[in-house]
Amino acid sequence: MCSDKKDVLESAQESGSMELDIKTNPNIKPPAKIQLAGLTRAEIAEALTEFGVPPKQVRMRAGQIFRWVYNYGVTDWASMTNIAKGLRAELAQKFELNRPEIVERQISVDGTRKYLIRMAPGIEVESVFIPAVSKTGALCVSSQVGCTLTCKFCHTGSQRLVRNLTAAEIALQVMVAKDDLEEWPSSSPNQEGGRKLTNIVFMGMGEPLYNTEEVAKALDIICDCEGLSFGRRRITLSTSGVVPEIVSAGERTNAMLAISLHAANDKLRSSIMPINKKYPLAELMKACRAYPGLSNSRRITFEYVMLKGINDSPKHAVELINLLKGIPAKVNLIPFNPWPGSDYECSDWETIERFADKVNAAGYASPIRTPRGRDIFAACGQLKSESEKMRASERRKAKKN
Ligand code: SAH
Ligand code: SF4
Repeated sequence: MCSDKKDVLESAQESGSMELDIKTNPNIKPPAKIQLAGLTRAEIAEALTEFGVPPKQVRMRAGQIFRWVYNYGVTDWASMTNIAKGLRAELAQKFELNRPEIVERQISVDGTRKYLIRMAPGIEVESVFIPAVSKTGALCVSSQVGCTLTCKFCHTGSQRLVRNLTAAEIALQVMVAKDDLEEWPSSSPNQEGGRKLTNIVFMGMGEPLYNTEEVAKALDIICDCEGLSFGRRRITLSTSGVVPEIVSAGERTNAMLAISLHAANDKLRSSIMPINKKYPLAELMKACRAYPGLSNSRRITFEYVMLKGINDSPKHAVELINLLKGIPAKVNLIPFNPWPGSDYECSDWETIERFADKVNAAGYASPIRTPRGRDIFAACGQLKSESEKMRASERRKAKKN
């Protein structure tokens, strides 16, 4: 039991800091509450200090709240039974634990679930839960709304960048998925070791290494063993090749690395991925070789989208094999997922299999990724939030009025 008896509330009231004039003056609105869900342990502690929790209690209180929010997934203060009622009531006046709104939730025939989540007005992101990947489920999260890079085959690349997501907004995507999957201990107390969601891949909207600090902070929340408790080796950062960030992101996050390669010569890669003009293959491969912790049990995944007649010939497979020489690597062949207005077609199945066999024979595992959730537009590269379209329709509406 904790000794909550005469704590924060009294000390804050003694100092007069809790007295607000809201009862007497109806024109004074109470200040907006601070959202705690999505904050790091240190940020929660900071918020509690500002609130007036005595310094000696701050660490303990922050730990308690952190566990309730991230381990148990509670969204109300009443559930926090090891915190005294009086203090809970005071905290509830100042802080909230809300989830962002799910604007749309779609379930594919293959079980894939896509969520469109509104983080703030005009800030909508998509996350996709893919069941049964590596024996368990993976959540594909977004790191930005839109993307500044304009890879020709990618739908997200055709949406301009709205903004980077905050660490809280990234962590909240995981929490929203856990709510939907009823995966908190409180929602399924008898569930023994049967987690549906164990892996997280940053393969949603945006380029995670253009938002490295917030992504890293989100991982501190997501991987804390007193909270959401994801293993860092079950987190994959996928990058189009932001070379200066690769090694430092690995050092900071200890996550697994995936490179969106898609072509193994500079001319072709630059023509489909403009970032290659800035960071050509030689520099990219040098950064890959220096990725911390690289070994045969900790390989880099090279993603390779199969574009008909563009990058899918035996000659391209040989180029790829030569490029990867000496790097602990596996190759993920992704059948191109079409989207309205895209210029490409997916390679034929036999072509993909021939390509896979060649890469395999050279000693690199090269599974062909089964497209998931195509019917709900949730597959790789198909994500694009509706925020742009909405703005356009809102503009039209405004014009009419
Ligand atoms: N921006 C990061 C992460 C998001 S994209 C990156 O590029 O790595 C996730 C993966 O989907 C990337 O490998 C990307 O190249 C791939 N992708 C993009 N558009 C695709 C499409 N239409 N079909 C198949 N894969 C696609
Ligand atoms: Fe951006 Fe990745 Fe799409 Fe390229 S593939 S446009 S980096 S989201």
